[in-house]
Amino acid sequence: MDHDDLAHWSKRAADWARDYHATLRDRPVRPNIAPGEFRALIDAPLPEDPEPIETIFDDFTRLVPDAMTHWQHPRFFAYFPANAAPASMLAEQLANAMAAQAMLWQTAPAANEMEELVIDWMREALGLPEGFTGTIHDSATTATFSAVATMREQALNYEGVTQGLHGGPRLRLYASAQTHSSVTKAARLTGIGAENLVQVPGRRGDPHFSMDPTALDRLIREDKAAGYTPIGVVLATGGTAIGACDDLDAAIAVARDHHLPTHVDAAWAGSAMICPEFRDLWAGVEQADSVVFNPHKWLGAQFDLSIQFLRDPTPQVRTMGLRPAYLQTLGDDEVTNFNEWTLPLGRRFRALKLWFLLRAEGLSGLRARIRNHVAWAHDARDAIAALPGFEIVTEPILSLFTFRFRDDATTERLLDAVNRDGRIYLTQTSHDSAFVIRMQVGQFDVTREDVMMVPDVLREISESL
Ligand SMILES: *Cc1c(COP(=O)(O)O)cnc(C)c1O
Repeated sequence: MDHDDLAHWSKRAADWARDYHATLRDRPVRPNIAPGEFRALIDAPLPEDPEPIETIFDDFTRLVPDAMTHWQHPRFFAYFPANAAPASMLAEQLANAMAAQAMLWQTAPAANEMEELVIDWMREALGLPEGFTGTIHDSATTATFSAVATMREQALNYEGVTQGLHGGPRLRLYASAQTHSSVTKAARLTGIGAENLVQVPGRRGDPHFSMDPTALDRLIREDKAAGYTPIGVVLATGGTAIGACDDLDAAIAVARDHHLPTHVDAAWAGSAMICPEFRDLWAGVEQADSVVFNPHKWLGAQFDLSIQFLRDPTPQVRTMGLRPAYLQTLGDDEVTNFNEWTLPLGRRFRALKLWFLLRAEGLSGLRARIRNHVAWAHDARDAIAALPGFEIVTEPILSLFTFRFRDDATTERLLDAVNRDGRIYLTQTSHDSAFVIRMQVGQFDVTREDVMMVPDVLREISESL
């Protein structure tokens, strides 16, 4: 296959993509397929000789889509969205065509400087203060890992990265019980240890399930008295299970009293902050040291693209950055080499997706979508609350809420039957040790009709249980 063939097949792929997206509503959101079934369909010996691309392409269209969960299906209400606006898909194709490796300014000047521009744009779009700068990671997990590793090094005066952790102080990291598993992963892998991730209890009766700042203060004091070294606090705006939002103002004030850095995980909810009316949910964020949000979730920048905003990048660059002789560039002081801010050396040209997305949709277009999603989630919540046997367990935070049907076992049976049916896709979580169904509205092409099909399907299937 050469580049003329690539041009031909790219057009075929584009036509296929248009038809795929046009007929998504006719497919089940999640395939009815058993583990191993797909492997059996494609099982073949390792190819020794070339095959015509026609055959491979044909195998793809025949076999792969039916064995996929369709994340761009308008009735995908599970997990969180992984939206891919057409403009960002186009940008991804162009970045793929150049196939550059953007590890240093000089290996991809446009990628590097566009990254700085889109970070500035997004900072302004989210209403964050001017001092913040930032970088693009593959995922929020990597951003949170980087933030926690940086907290560790700030506490150890940057000796952890040279001396190792052996014989050092016992470190403690604080987060609410609602924070994402990526925080636990960061604690595990930065040598802090999951047992030194202190879960701060929630504030009683808080509608947003915020951690209790008084408890945070008490836990830090107790740990200090017991000889531990607190290193920082991770806060949530829009937790994955039920959308929990910590009271950032109060929690960051406590952290600052103890001279501790803070990292805010707004991976999902950050996108909604382009709408000023939702910013109450993260009031105080301007005091944070680090904030992560995923334009690859709700906003519409094709996966993967996660932004970490930093009040001051110096501690993270001191922690993550390495500049061996073979990576040195002339005029080092004048350019930013983003690999020094992140975990991998190699970097994709991700900024292009956001540049296309923001220009093609405009902030006004993106805001309109998010506002609709939030409004429709409330409509769906009301319709589900009115169904016999159904109970809303957690109220909508932005466009996410949870509900149950009768009891745990029946709720689980209902969810299984709904997802086998395939018209809609929902997933579960556990809340106050109850099995609950989550619903979030956020797919890029979802309509109000799609959303209101959820109560219809729930009524129909619950009646047949
Ligand atoms: C999705 C999510 C993450 C993890 O995001 P990745 O980019 O997949 O690593 C972390 N925190 C929250 C709150 C999330 O919703």
